[in-house]
Amino acid sequence: DSVKQSAVLLHTDIPELELYASGKVRDIYKVDSDHLLFIASDRISAFDYVLASGIPEKGRVLTQISLFWFDFLKNIVDNHLVTADVNKFPAELKAHEAQLHGRSMLVQHAQMIQVECVVRGYLSGSGWKEYKKDGAVCGIELPKGLQESDKLPEPIFTPATKAQTGHDENISFDRMVQVTGGDLSEKLREVSIKIYKAAADYALTKGIIIADTKFEFGMTPKGLVLADEVLTPDSSRFWPVDKYKPGMTQESFDKQYVRDYLEDIKWNKQPPAPGLPEEVQAKTSEKYVEAYRRLTGHDLP
Ligand code: ATP
Ligand code: MG
Repeated sequence: DSVKQSAVLLHTDIPELELYASGKVRDIYKVDSDHLLFIASDRISAFDYVLASGIPEKGRVLTQISLFWFDFLKNIVDNHLVTADVNKFPAELKAHEAQLHGRSMLVQHAQMIQVECVVRGYLSGSGWKEYKKDGAVCGIELPKGLQESDKLPEPIFTPATKAQTGHDENISFDRMVQVTGGDLSEKLREVSIKIYKAAADYALTKGIIIADTKFEFGMTPKGLVLADEVLTPDSSRFWPVDKYKPGMTQESFDKQYVRDYLEDIKWNKQPPAPGLPEEVQAKTSEKYVEAYRRLTGHDLP
C-alpha cells in the first residue's frame, strides 16, 4: 500500500522556488523573471473539488499530451514551451528530478490574455444549457431542434472569463472585444477554431471525439503564444467515439469511473471531497494512459 501511495504525487515541494500558482491539478513555480515551471500533479477533480486520492500517471499523461499537441500544432501557432527535458532545467532543480520527470515543463512567462478561448464542436455542458434556454451559445444562434451532444454544423468560438472561484462565465464575442480589443479577439477566434479543427479531425481518426476545449493564450516578446495546457482531458471533453450517442450526456473518456463511483456513494458534492477505492484509481489511470496511447500511437514514455 505504501508503495502505491508513493507512486501518486499529490503535492509538490520545491523550496528553492517561489510558488506562483497552485490550481486544482498543477503547481506552478517562478523560475526567473521570464520563466515558469509547470508541474502536473496526480490530483483529480470532480464536480469542482479535488478528491482526496490521486490517479497514478495522470500528471505525466497530461504533460505528455500537451507536449504532443504543442508539437502537432507548431506550424499553426507558437507556444510557451521552452523545454520538458529536466536535464535542461536550471541546475538547482536537478535535486527534484523525482517530482519533475515526465510531468513538468519549463515555459516562457507570458502576459496572459484574460479571456479563455473555448471552442465547441458538439453541444454539451454549459453550451447545451444555454442552447436549451435561448437557442444560442454566447450569442451565436444555432439551428433549431439540436439534441444534447449533437455535433454542431461548424465549430463555434464561445469565450469565457476566468473566474477566481467557481465556474467561468460564458461571454459574447462583443464582450470579449471590450476586454481584449477587436483585432486581437478576431485573431484569437480564428486561431482557436483552426487549431481545434486540426486537433479534433486528427483525434477522431484515433477514436476520440474532442467535443470541446479551452485554450489560453499569452503575449511574450516573440508575440502571441498558445500557453497553459493544451487539448488534455482536463481542458477538454474527450468522448470515446464507439460509445457516442447523441440525445444524452456522453460518457467521459477519462473520468467516467470516477463519476460513476461518486454517484454510487451519493456524495453531496460538498467538501470534504471523498477518496477513491484502489480499483477506481487503477481503472481511471488506465483510461488516461490509453488516451495518451490512442492519440500518439505509442506507449507513455
Ligand atoms: P484550475 O485548476 O481550475 O485550472 P487555475 O486555472 O487557477 O485553476 P492552473 O490551471 O493550474 O489553475 O493555473 C494555471 C495558471 O497559469 C492560469 O492562471 C493560467 O492562465 C496561467 N498560465 C498558463 N500559462 C502561463 C504562462 N506561460 N505564463 C503565465 N501564466 C500562465
Ligand atoms: Mg486552469
